[in-house]
Amino acid sequence: MSDIKIGIIGGSGLYELEGLTDVRWTRVKTPFGDPSDAYCVGQLGARTVVFLPRHGRGHRLMPSELNFRANIYGLKALGVEWVISISAVGSMREDIRPLDLVIPDQFFDWTRRRPSTFFGDGIVAHVGMADPVCSDLADRLEAAGRATGATVHRGGTYLCIEGPQFSSKAESRIYRQWGVDVIGMTNMPEAKLAREAELCYSTLALATDYDVWHESEESVSVEAVVANLLKNVATAKEVLRNVIPQIGPPRRCGCPMLLRNAVITNPSAFPPRTRKALDLLLGKYFPSRRPSPPHPALSPRGGEDKGEGARNRVRGRRRRGRG
Ligand SMILES: [Zn+2]
Repeated sequence: MSDIKIGIIGGSGLYELEGLTDVRWTRVKTPFGDPSDAYCVGQLGARTVVFLPRHGRGHRLMPSELNFRANIYGLKALGVEWVISISAVGSMREDIRPLDLVIPDQFFDWTRRRPSTFFGDGIVAHVGMADPVCSDLADRLEAAGRATGATVHRGGTYLCIEGPQFSSKAESRIYRQWGVDVIGMTNMPEAKLAREAELCYSTLALATDYDVWHESEESVSVEAVVANLLKNVATAKEVLRNVIPQIGPPRRCGCPMLLRNAVITNPSAFPPRTRKALDLLLGKYFPSRRPSPPHPALSPRGGEDKGEGARNRVRGRRRRGRG
C-alpha cells in the first residue's frame, strides 16, 4: 500500500469509485461514533485512495444526519493527508451553468444543528478559518478539471444550508444578495473539521441547477438534479483520475500545522478522557507520556515571558477566543 493516501468524499450520485485495484472496505471506529459507511481503500497507480460515500451506499443519510466528525476522523485515522470533497450544488450566479465545475475558496455556514468541532469537553481550540481551502490542492483540482474540457470556476463562496428542503424563492433571493456563488447542504462543518484535523481540503463542486431564483429556468427538483448528477458524476470521476496522480508530498502549505497555535487550554488542565479521544489530533503537539511543554497562557510564570508581555499575550489570546 502506498504511503500517499488521498481521501475522496463522494457526494450525491457518487457512491463508488471504479478503477481502483486491491480494493477492500474498512470500517473505522471513532470516539465520535460511526462514519457514514465503511471506507473503500484501494490503489490508483502509486496512490492509495480512501473513498467514503458521504450519504452511505444507497444514499441513506440526509445532510443533517451525517456524522461529519466521524467521517473526517476516520480519514485521518486511516492516514489520509489530502481530502477532495465531491459535492453537488445549485448555482447562485447566471454564469455558473448547470454541469459547470466550481472550486470554492470560501464557505458560509448557515447550518443550524450540527456538531462542528472535535474540541470541547475540557479542551478548547480555535482553528483559523480565514482560508478554509488548501490552495495547493485547489490548484491541482483546477488543472485536472480544465483537462476534462469542462468549464471550471476557480474560487467562490459555497453557502451551506441545513436542508433537507431546497430553499424558498425568498431565501434564494436573499442568499444571492449576500454574494454567494453556489449552494449546498454538506460542506459545513466538513471543511471546518478537515481544518481541525490538519488535512488539505478542497471541494470540487458540480452544478446541477439554478436553485429557485432563476426567472426563465425551472426551479430545482430532485428529478432535474438527478439527470445532471449522472452527467456530473462522469465528469467528477474523470477529474479524480486526472488529479490523484498529481497529489503527493511534501505538503508545503500551512495545513499540516493548523493546530500548532490553536489550543488555548493549558495542557495540565486537559481532562485525560478528552485528551485520549483527541490523541490523533493532539499527540504530535502534546506528547502524552512526557511532561507537558510550557504553555504561555496559564503557566505560573507565563512560560519564558515574564511580566507585562506575558499578561498581554494572555489577554490577546483570550480576545482571540471571543469569550
Ligand atoms: Zn494543504
